[in-house]
Amino acid sequence: MAQVNRKQLLDCALCPNMCRCECPVVQAWGKEAVSPSGKSRLAHLLLEGRLSWSEEFLEALSACVGCRGCQTLCPFPELDLAEELLAARQEASQAGVCLHQVAPYLGNLKKFGSPYGQGRGLAPAGERGAAVLYFAGCTAAANNPQSVETALALLEKAGVSYQTLDEFCCGYPAEIWGDLELARQLAADNRERFAASGARTLVTGCPECRWTFTRRYGAWGIELPLEVVDSTTFFLGLIREGRLQPRPVQGIDTVTYHDPCLRARLEEDWERPRELLGLIPGLTLVEAASSKEKVRCCGGGQMAQLTFPALAETMARRRLAELPAVSAALTDCPFCRESLLVGGGTVMELTELLGRACIER
Ligand code: SF4
Ligand code: SF4
Repeated sequence: MAQVNRKQLLDCALCPNMCRCECPVVQAWGKEAVSPSGKSRLAHLLLEGRLSWSEEFLEALSACVGCRGCQTLCPFPELDLAEELLAARQEASQAGVCLHQVAPYLGNLKKFGSPYGQGRGLAPAGERGAAVLYFAGCTAAANNPQSVETALALLEKAGVSYQTLDEFCCGYPAEIWGDLELARQLAADNRERFAASGARTLVTGCPECRWTFTRRYGAWGIELPLEVVDSTTFFLGLIREGRLQPRPVQGIDTVTYHDPCLRARLEEDWERPRELLGLIPGLTLVEAASSKEKVRCCGGGQMAQLTFPALAETMARRRLAELPAVSAALTDCPFCRESLLVGGGTVMELTELLGRACIER
């Protein structure tokens, strides 16, 4: 189990909490208990045994979307509060405390390999043994299968030999909900499946899956036998090689790009999505009020749409208010797309836009 760094947590618990203005959770919820320092104080008291675990306390510690907004103003460069809160939530799980709203999703993960339940995952397709394995991730497969079909159609259009598997979740939801044992089991199952596939490159459209494969699996003692690449980078490479040739997209001329927190803050990769957009003729990119490393979470982080739907919706509406008026808002994260849809505007993943630019004529 990941260990909480008690010293760093105490530093945070005693801090003046000036970063609260960059925490989208406290801004949306308006309760001091869910501010960065508020959560640290609560975690400190729980871990010191001054308070006993309860669902109410676990709910406050779970009110973090992992956006790292607090880090932008934090005087402690070593502190990653989102990580400390993850570790604290695993302690709650060990103590037998679970949020009632996530119990059914954890049950689905154990039974069906997807938090969304039976038959919501991706089915095997493509060519067995192909070098490229496309991994959609549970949220895209369950809630936006058209985006997965578009990604596969783009691979076909570019002449890439690919395969998909009967997918199991990467393990990320189990980890954020405190069940590290389940997360590791899913990771071990995935390693076996990926190895048996014979693929050498895994392409995924979900930043949370990618982060889990590349950063978590190693920490859990699981080495994947293939390279992991995000779909934006992969498709950008196909455009550069001339294997995909985007044309203007009818009805879409101005766009904005919402940076997924993980991509922007932890991977510091905000140029490649913009480069891809720049290669679609006829598009003008209008930046949001806060973007790139200054992005504000849309409510999609750490599956808040499932754990705290009302909070996630408030955060999404706050983020939408920062986006310019354009023909389409783009992102490359299935969670961000779902969040931003609450405004009723046109929201697409980059893959979907690229599909319209390359396939629809
Ligand atoms: S995250 Fe950093 S700035 Fe924010 S309250 Fe904790 S120690 Fe202070
Ligand atoms: S990672 Fe984001 S949601 Fe979590 S405490 Fe920091 S600013 Fe708030």
